[in-house]
Amino acid sequence: MKEKNNLMIWIMLIILLLLAISIVFVWYKENKNSSLLEKELTKQEKVKIISENSPLTSYVYLTKNASFPRQNKIKKITIHHMAADLSLEEVGKLFSLKERKTSANYAIDKEGKIGLYVEEKNRAWTSSSPQNDHQAITIEVANDEIGGNWHISDKSYNALIELCIDICKRNNIKKLNYTGDKKGNVTLHKMFKKETECPGPYLESRIKDIIKEVNKGLDNVNK
Ligand SMILES: [Zn+2]
Repeated sequence: MKEKNNLMIWIMLIILLLLAISIVFVWYKENKNSSLLEKELTKQEKVKIISENSPLTSYVYLTKNASFPRQNKIKKITIHHMAADLSLEEVGKLFSLKERKTSANYAIDKEGKIGLYVEEKNRAWTSSSPQNDHQAITIEVANDEIGGNWHISDKSYNALIELCIDICKRNNIKKLNYTGDKKGNVTLHKMFKKETECPGPYLESRIKDIIKEVNKGLDNVNK
């Protein structure tokens, strides 16, 4: 009887120990992730973050304005325009403003450089639709014309195509398909918010061309 009791105590102790280890592990992981938010990153930290996101990224500033982690698999891409011509650093500053409650996974500047603000595993606050953003990678593109058609530069345009190809490749999206509504795997901000013109007339008029180029790129990869 005594031996049996001893055995029970040992089993209980082992269970408690395992529980404690897993709590410490989760706590460590959470802390490690949040310690990378809204701070200047070391070169090593940047390299590690980029290795888990798009290798096309040249600037990293991770904002707290996001949901950690996303609640759905990555199935879509949502294209936005900045309605401004901001540098990647300026976008980072804007996304770190708590009261604005806004962010995107990536931004592309006028020179075609790509910044990362919310890691792909997390949900950015971009499209006025949690449901969309939990399954989408969102991309903000700088305008080189303010107002009017909200044109974007050819460098940004080409970088957007390259980034979409890369996102699809890494997330196993075989093909992009634009249906003009929420059902397709390419969505636009204006599908979720009546009051916005985002991504602006120019980018919207080029969506089908962009998708054609991306799918061509994906075909080459799949060959
Ligand atoms: Zn937008």
